[in-house]
Amino acid sequence: MTHADWHLELDFSKKTIKGTGLYTLQHQGAPEVIFDVRHLQITGVKLVGQEQEAEYHLTEEEPFLGQGLHIALREDTRQVEIRFVTTPQSAALQWLEPGQTAGKTHPFLFTQSQAILARTWLPCQDSPSVRFTYTARVQVPAHLLPLMSADNPQEKGATGEYFFQMEQPIPSYLLSLAVGDLAFAPLGQRCGVYAEPATLEAAAYEFADTEKMLEAAEDLYGPYRWGRYDLLVLPPSFPFGGMENPKLTFCTPTIIAGDRSLTSLVAHELAHSWSGNLVTNATWNDFWMNEGFTVYFERRIMEALYGPAYAEMLHTLGYQDLQLTLEELRDKPQDTCLHLNLAGRDPDEGLTEIAYEKGNAFLRHLEKLVGRDRFDLFVNRYFSQFRFQSMDTAGFEQFLEKELINGDDTLRQQINAAGWIHAPGLPAGQLPPKAVLFEKVAQELEKWQHGTAAQDLATHGWSTHEWLYFLTNLPQGLTQAQLEELDQAFGFTASGNAEVQAEWLRHAILHRYEAAYPALEAFLVRVGRRKFLLPLYKALLQTPQGTAQAQAIYQKARPNYHAVATSTLDALLNR
Ligand SMILES: [Zn+2]
Repeated sequence: MTHADWHLELDFSKKTIKGTGLYTLQHQGAPEVIFDVRHLQITGVKLVGQEQEAEYHLTEEEPFLGQGLHIALREDTRQVEIRFVTTPQSAALQWLEPGQTAGKTHPFLFTQSQAILARTWLPCQDSPSVRFTYTARVQVPAHLLPLMSADNPQEKGATGEYFFQMEQPIPSYLLSLAVGDLAFAPLGQRCGVYAEPATLEAAAYEFADTEKMLEAAEDLYGPYRWGRYDLLVLPPSFPFGGMENPKLTFCTPTIIAGDRSLTSLVAHELAHSWSGNLVTNATWNDFWMNEGFTVYFERRIMEALYGPAYAEMLHTLGYQDLQLTLEELRDKPQDTCLHLNLAGRDPDEGLTEIAYEKGNAFLRHLEKLVGRDRFDLFVNRYFSQFRFQSMDTAGFEQFLEKELINGDDTLRQQINAAGWIHAPGLPAGQLPPKAVLFEKVAQELEKWQHGTAAQDLATHGWSTHEWLYFLTNLPQGLTQAQLEELDQAFGFTASGNAEVQAEWLRHAILHRYEAAYPALEAFLVRVGRRKFLLPLYKALLQTPQGTAQAQAIYQKARPNYHAVATSTLDALLNR
């Protein structure tokens, strides 16, 4: 498929999308075309130019892959029409009741297509290596506004009918739709933010630097090729921090901390406009090429805006996460290679922090070896040469050989690409990043352990990152008195910063600090971001009384979670 034209009708009472797709095909006499579908009802197929219904069949349902929709073609068929309706099992979709939104008055719908869920809300060739352009006509109730990964309206129209166009070819995992009581605020010439009216002002304040980030990104790695860059703040059940849907990043409201301290996530999603959206991993085995480049690029943007000391904090926290992930995966060493083998597995379950932080560490290793100027030139060429194409790991290795190594045997050995990409763990001799600002945090932590009262520690002016370093490096075996002291001095249980609160709640669980339990339950019921849910539920399962507590909370919270989160948590909690 090279282009799709969809007509989508949303019914919030039935919670369905009824759609017709007109798909343009490019082929040389192929006998059939195959689309991916899963938990999607197909109601009819036509070959354009033929009066009668076309012949098609669906293959048997396979776990997480779904079904193949096989349509017999004639030699001259250039377009097929497929009619379909979503089902309650369409896992990309989350239909929210008004009570689950900020405004509490209108329902909300959003999609999450990555990795292979686009096929659950519309038929498509659901591989990151197939790109297509699209147009869509979307019908929603008149009081709601739909938005897509496309050119978007900035205000509601009278009829509830909207037209969308995506001129740049994208892979299916970047298809997205959100519908709700949404309003728009500009952040600059090319940037803006959409949110529910109740959240809009806070969101516009939080993301004020977005245009500056976009300019910094272009200075680093070439022109932004997508026209506008807007953000959409979703309700708290959104399962990820952000999703890089082109032209319109979807993000969690948990990064609205009130002090602009969690905006590296915006830099991350913005960086995907190059790494991922422009040069796309050819398969999910090559996921590190999307995420490793993006983490590296995100921190270069943050460095450009806020300085090297700030960026080094992000690298150090990321490196801590990498160590934890390597530890967690010690029985699955193959999953700690950058290039993965996900055959027979749901990609969504096989993708871990390794792609992000080991990928970033590899690129920093390259930067250190050849110097920043030469490395930046290399990355610039990579984005420009392969733009709007997919790239696999072998292709990257060839490009590295040709553009950077260029016959230099010593450099090839120093780089040790095979060791990074195809061997588990981290190659020997890697120095961990060391943030100067965290040395002060470590000193204060030391003082506290030697008797200085928590309230007397020199914490003034600490950013979220310093607090996170403080919390993640608390000693084991804290006493109730120590937890109470910290909580009283710093108000962790009631923190309005989701990162800080979640890390604190994890300690609270492991040490049975019951004063934080009501906040823990409230947090787990309200927030659906998988990054926070997993460590908290896992911590609960580690304590003797925790299993029953985890089950009880999960029963209450589950209706608020997206399928991406429940599929992971159902397995964890044996449901
Ligand atoms: Zn990412």
